[in-house]
Amino acid sequence: MARHTGSVCKQCRRERTKLFLKGDRCLTDRCSVERRTYPPGEHGRRRVKETDYLMQLREKQKARRVYGVLEKQFRAYYRQAIREKGRTGENLIRILESRLDNVVYRSGFAVSRKQARQLVSHGHITVNEKKVDIASYQVKPGEVIGVKARSRESAVFKAALESFQREQVPWLEVDRKKLTATVVERPAGTSIDVPIRDEMIVELYSR
Ligand code: SF4
Repeated sequence: MARHTGSVCKQCRRERTKLFLKGDRCLTDRCSVERRTYPPGEHGRRRVKETDYLMQLREKQKARRVYGVLEKQFRAYYRQAIREKGRTGENLIRILESRLDNVVYRSGFAVSRKQARQLVSHGHITVNEKKVDIASYQVKPGEVIGVKARSRESAVFKAALESFQREQVPWLEVDRKKLTATVVERPAGTSIDVPIRDEMIVELYSR
């Protein structure tokens, strides 16, 4: 699947906010958003009229970039969110949070969602002790996410857990010694570290 291969820091600068796409570096003063507060590109410093449409579009792009999801898949998630009971925006964030790569990141087994996606697709991650190598796999309450026995000694997991500084989300119970994470309830949108105004995404797609 096509993926963004350019500078991820430019994505943060475009959204004018930290999206935490690079792991440890995001917490240091080497973060590009802190050093350059204007969007990238030749016209980055130009004043842009902030219309409703532009703000809604930026909110959707922010969500896509945080979770590393392409437009086609994001729209599919939106359609799924409409079909589910409850508020569409909340449903959308819950679906994004339920992605296996996000859960691996939330558990502290990877420094970024990008690294988490790589760990999943390279077959290091299990769900209920069975290998799952699909990053978009939707986890369910009661499932136990783990690391394959042969991969547990990998320096990648040790380094990620040692540098873990994020707040632990309440819907995951993580056992750092066993490298397992149990999904205790459905993810809630309120626990995300990058505030996303989900109602603006709904407004954009409802146009
Ligand atoms: Fe780069 Fe992380 Fe800063 Fe974003 S938050 S600009 S990814 S260092």
